[in-house]
Amino acid sequence: MKHIAIAGAGPAGVATALLLAQQGLKVTLLEQETEFDRVFRGDGLMPSGLAAVYEMGLKEAFAKEVPSRQLDAWDFYVGGERRMRVIEPEENGLATQIMDQGALLKAMVEKAEKFSNFEFCLGWQGVELLRDRRTNSVIGLRAKSKGVYGGQSRDVLADAVIAADGRYSRLRKLAGLDLKESNAQFDVLWFKLPSPAALMKETPFVACLQPDRQFAFYPSWDGRLQIGWIVKKKSKGRSKLKQSKNSSPATQKRGWKERDWKERDWVEEFAQALPPKLASHFRSHRAELEGPIFLDVKVGVCDRWSLPGLLLIGDAAHPMAPNRAQGINMALRDAIVVANYMKNVDNRNGPVPYEVFQQIQAERQPEVDAVQKMQLAEWKKVEFISKPGLPYQGFKAIASTFGRFRFAQNIWLHEQKGLREGILPVKLNV
Ligand SMILES: Cc1cc2nc3c(=O)[nH]c(=O)nc-3n(C[C@H](O)[C@H](O)[C@H](O)COP(=O)(O)OP(=O)(O)OC[C@H]3O[C@@H](n4cnc5c(N)ncnc54)[C@H](O)[C@@H]3O)c2cc1C
Repeated sequence: MKHIAIAGAGPAGVATALLLAQQGLKVTLLEQETEFDRVFRGDGLMPSGLAAVYEMGLKEAFAKEVPSRQLDAWDFYVGGERRMRVIEPEENGLATQIMDQGALLKAMVEKAEKFSNFEFCLGWQGVELLRDRRTNSVIGLRAKSKGVYGGQSRDVLADAVIAADGRYSRLRKLAGLDLKESNAQFDVLWFKLPSPAALMKETPFVACLQPDRQFAFYPSWDGRLQIGWIVKKKSKGRSKLKQSKNSSPATQKRGWKERDWKERDWVEEFAQALPPKLASHFRSHRAELEGPIFLDVKVGVCDRWSLPGLLLIGDAAHPMAPNRAQGINMALRDAIVVANYMKNVDNRNGPVPYEVFQQIQAERQPEVDAVQKMQLAEWKKVEFISKPGLPYQGFKAIASTFGRFRFAQNIWLHEQKGLREGILPVKLNV
């Protein structure tokens, strides 16, 4: 049978591995980390992402094995007061979820492990692409082990390699496939705080706006508040750091910490943008604030997602911004499209025809482009209305006057349609 090697067990890699193993292909999934639990994973899943999970036959597993909270509402706080609340609609049993991504990935891997044609190699990092000397096509990858058995090397020969190794994709670089980076406008600092009792009874996503500052928080699946503070990329501290062109995200992170993080009273920064009850909760739990964790946002799309023998998917092909939780959706939807095309490929061993990879890109890229455009437009709007002076004051006045009316809430919901439901239909062909 055909053998597919997949590097990266994030949502794109795990979902693709599961679907291809279900189709009877031999699948080797490599993940460089030695465990699923890591400090930060995106946990917002939009209705289209949930639909993709259900398409994969994981409805029951999601309910039973994945700790999650269904979102109740989107709240908008401007100048320390809630100005608009939009109730999260539930259409066809689908609504936005805040879920434990690690648990979802584990549930998918467990399902894939029921197939004898699936192999999962945790703690193995893809480090090199293996090429056919004559044609230069990719024919597999070299992997190195980490963890207790670290330092071992293994060549995985395959009929196709799928690179699902995330936004810093090593395989993308090894293949020489350029990422066309768009200006990512912000980075994110993440914090955790115990949730107030009132927010344990409901699950709102709260967006807070003050002049020149934006942050959001929600009660997460683990019962704590997850808080994301937006840091503009072009802020002074960072542009200085950027002078050192080769500085890694880790160096940038250290730089940020030294210059900015330690000096700030974060609890006070949050409290000033909140109504009195919430502000006092933040202040009284000052000692329990965890974070910040710096997350470098990278956004872009590759012109070419493939070479003969190699296909990029998920963030490796198109790193997504975090706003409106699109990255997991896009990754899962890529996996479904890969499975649909692979279904029509001859199952016997032999290279996967290159046109198949080109068709996959042609089907997925319009949605990725449209979603990235919508995310950018949304950010631009937020950036504008938080400008001190007329833009902020004007927006505050409009939000206070109209935010309580259903028509204003419906306008906002309507604008979000593509981000909630996806731009194009993506269905698994069974
Ligand atoms: C701050 C921030 C918050 C976000 N929040 C959300 C959110 O709430 N909801 C949402 O939908 N999206 C969110 N996103 C985006 C989302 O995280 C990504 O778009 C999504 O995870 C992409 O999935 P992926 O499988 O392509 O890549 P990843 O999830 O990055 O997975 C890649 C995997 O590959 C592994 N790997 C890397 N290199 C190798 C290698 N050489 N060999 C083997 N394994 C390797 C990594 O360890 C990792 O497990 C957020 C992004 C950021 C930056």
